[in-house]
Amino acid sequence: MPLQKGPVVVWNSSLLFALMISASSAEAATIIHAGRLIDGRSPEPRREVSITIEAGRITGVTAGYVEPGEGDRLIRLTEGTVLPGLMDMHTHLQAQHSKDSYTERFFMEQADYALRSTVYARTTLMAGFTTVRDLGDNGVNSIALRKAIERGWIPGPRIFTSGKSLATTGGHADPTNALRGDYRRDAGPLEGVINGPDDARKAVRQRYKDGADLIKLTATGGVLSLAASGQNPQFTEEELRAVVQTAKDYGMTVAVHAHGAEGIRRAILAGVDSIEHGTFMTDELIALMKEHGTYWVPTNMAGEWVAMKAEEPGYFPDLVRPKAAAIGPLMRDTFKRGQAAGVKIAFGTDSGVSPHGENAHEFELMVEGGMPPMQAIQSATLEAARLLKAEDRLGTIEPQKLADIIAVNGDPLAEIGTLRNVVFVMKEGVVYKQP
Ligand SMILES: [Zn+2]
Repeated sequence: MPLQKGPVVVWNSSLLFALMISASSAEAATIIHAGRLIDGRSPEPRREVSITIEAGRITGVTAGYVEPGEGDRLIRLTEGTVLPGLMDMHTHLQAQHSKDSYTERFFMEQADYALRSTVYARTTLMAGFTTVRDLGDNGVNSIALRKAIERGWIPGPRIFTSGKSLATTGGHADPTNALRGDYRRDAGPLEGVINGPDDARKAVRQRYKDGADLIKLTATGGVLSLAASGQNPQFTEEELRAVVQTAKDYGMTVAVHAHGAEGIRRAILAGVDSIEHGTFMTDELIALMKEHGTYWVPTNMAGEWVAMKAEEPGYFPDLVRPKAAAIGPLMRDTFKRGQAAGVKIAFGTDSGVSPHGENAHEFELMVEGGMPPMQAIQSATLEAARLLKAEDRLGTIEPQKLADIIAVNGDPLAEIGTLRNVVFVMKEGVVYKQP
């Protein structure tokens, strides 16, 4: 590739570097010397380990520093800590909240959304997040983004996306809420708005047809939508069961946005895979989640962010501000209770509410909330891979897994905040960031 001067090369330098490495080492192995290794599964870190990578996969994890063979590439990460690529189970790469969020959809084309989301995708990858679960967009954007990343057109994390979230009429993800009469149309299953089990089945099948990987639904009101309630139940039990059964037919998992207790209860009983937020979770519901093996994705960062913005006069519309002020501060306390009780927790930030690339701040909030650092790291590696049903290829540094590997300079078990400064990023054997 010819060397060019100017902003294009600066913006894209990591990708060019990655492409050059992958092109020049088709046959050879890459060996990483890891001073301290957190492999995602072992309860304790290991010291002085070599990781062998061939054709994008990990083929060996060996004690001691193995000498590279003829033509092999050696990467020395002997000073800091090497970890599996981090996995965020709740992002929205399509957007990033601002005062303009409620009006930009009247001015932005799909192409504008798509191009902007490439910036957020790159920021997320460079922060060490090699996989994300994207939970709700305008219907096509995150699917196009996933394809562009898979094809190597742009750098970004591996994406598992729900496409458009499902809602009921007037519900949290009804795209026509609070608009003036001629825009406030009767949206249907094509746009992810359902009423009754037949609509529910059709909406799931439509997501399958669109190319989504999983289903997201909004079982209760939410904070940032233009509607009065942040927590009322918005799906009937019958509708929830129809979504879950149909999703299973198509091999899709179901992620459920829920703040209020009744919506959480109905969703757990319908057999969903994860509860997102879970703000008003009672001790009874905690026990019910454990009984059903339901994952919880707490999104502490979203709670902190909306609580902070609720104090800024005029930031939120009048319908949103009281919900943000009420729900945000509660999430921290709920996290303390839920994690102490041993609910299965997968890491998620709701990034796109808070700015993309700051995802690792969630680790700090989890540890502040009482979770041991190693468990917080495993929630973003092994547990996230289990939630995605991708444990065969993601989530740990072990032979046969895809080579998603990151490094930080310090020891995250001693100082969890060091995860905010990721210095090395490899995804599927390709290096995107180097010290
Ligand atoms: Zn969300």
